[in-house]
Amino acid sequence: MPEAATSSISTPTFADITTVGVGGRIAAFVQPHDRVGLIEAVEGADSKGLPLCLIGGGSNLLASDQDFPGVVVRDTRQDISVPDEVAPPEGGVPVVHINATAGTNWDDLVSYCVRMHLIGLEGLSGIPGTVGASVVQNIGAYGQEVGRLVDSVEVWDRQNKVTAYLRASDLDFGYRTSLLKQTMYQAPAVPDARFFPTPRYVVLSVTLVLRHGSAARVDSAQLAKALGVQVGATLPLERIRQAVLTVRAGKGMLEDPYRYLTDWMGSCRRTSDLEEALEAVQGDLHGPRGERVLLDRHSCGSFFTNPIISREAANALPADAPRYPVEGSALVKTSAAWLIDHSGFHKGFSLEEGSAAALSDVHTLALTNRGGAGSDDMVVLARAIQKGVDSTFGIRLIPEPVTPGIDLAW
Ligand SMILES: Cc1cc2nc3c(=O)[nH]c(=O)nc-3n(C[C@H](O)[C@H](O)[C@H](O)COP(=O)(O)OP(=O)(O)OC[C@H]3O[C@@H](n4cnc5c(N)ncnc54)[C@H](O)[C@@H]3O)c2cc1C
Repeated sequence: MPEAATSSISTPTFADITTVGVGGRIAAFVQPHDRVGLIEAVEGADSKGLPLCLIGGGSNLLASDQDFPGVVVRDTRQDISVPDEVAPPEGGVPVVHINATAGTNWDDLVSYCVRMHLIGLEGLSGIPGTVGASVVQNIGAYGQEVGRLVDSVEVWDRQNKVTAYLRASDLDFGYRTSLLKQTMYQAPAVPDARFFPTPRYVVLSVTLVLRHGSAARVDSAQLAKALGVQVGATLPLERIRQAVLTVRAGKGMLEDPYRYLTDWMGSCRRTSDLEEALEAVQGDLHGPRGERVLLDRHSCGSFFTNPIISREAANALPADAPRYPVEGSALVKTSAAWLIDHSGFHKGFSLEEGSAAALSDVHTLALTNRGGAGSDDMVVLARAIQKGVDSTFGIRLIPEPVTPGIDLAW
């Protein structure tokens, strides 16, 4: 392994800095504090031909237990700014541009915008991770996606060795994908050796376009139900945020905030927002599921994306299989959770009694580390599910997390 590129005498393992808590030793760990330092750290690794893993919150990463022989870089900048406080009207709607550096915790940004009465992010409350990674996989939930709010993304282009601003129209946002993510793969789940596990374009900062206002429309049926209102109702942003956090907590889809009390994660969230997250989890811990709540939280969130299939393939599925039209195409999106469940892998499923790797008790799509799972445990479970769904429905599930050192292609 190369010499550590930091002054610190120790480096974390991937298990220390990922939500699923799995993964081996890292040769060098660098935490730049400014924009130039970030570019230098990336370029330093690239110029030496070392493997590079840009890491944010580690919430979409399942790394191998093998040593990672390269450099892991984590941007420590957490700056939110409002470049144009008095924004000119665009198409008659008053908008405001919000800029955040890549290392900013995503939910800290959402919380800030809700407090500042800026509409657009409230439905994306509680998604773990950072602003930089949010545009890589175009995070989404409850009918909202970050890509729809992006004005521009400032990047370091590792190939041409220049900084650039990519506009939303350049970024090819789609369901859990973007130009940035596409640069990492030759085909779905088949890594491109040049830019894996870090995209060609390293995100330095993201500028979003939001609207002023203290209330927003609820467009998601699931959210409307949780709020006890009709789809289309207008509610205060804070009420929507709280409902999203509650629904996510019930599905084990909030990350474990206690991870931010550890040495390696300690500086990655704003203190006031962390206190709020810790307080919120207390209710769950003292609820009926108690300690199991935390067991279900050590995951990468949804492990598989919802398959997008042809109309013929969709017609061949059982009548009760979910089918959603894909905007602008003849394709159909179905539900990975439904396929998994109907292939015999139910909530809480594990290959062996008491195994450290199991499906979440409350979410079919989350592969959880119940404590001490190794990458092989997670991979064996993931492959069993992929094979089971393929043999039942002839559909290949594509993993959502980035998997350094692990091959889940087939
Ligand atoms: C409990 C839970 C719930 C989740 N719920 C959702 C959900 O509802 N919707 C959803 O879309 N996702 C969800 N996710 C997935 C995850 O939160 C998102 O993918 C998130 O954007 C990952 O951010 P991160 O900073 O943790 O990325 P990481 O896991 O650190 O990295 C992921 C990838 O992004 C790259 N990356 C990181 N930072 C940068 C940068 N600055 N520039 C370029 N590349 C970068 C990494 O190299 C890697 O390839 C969930 C995850 C968990 C654990």
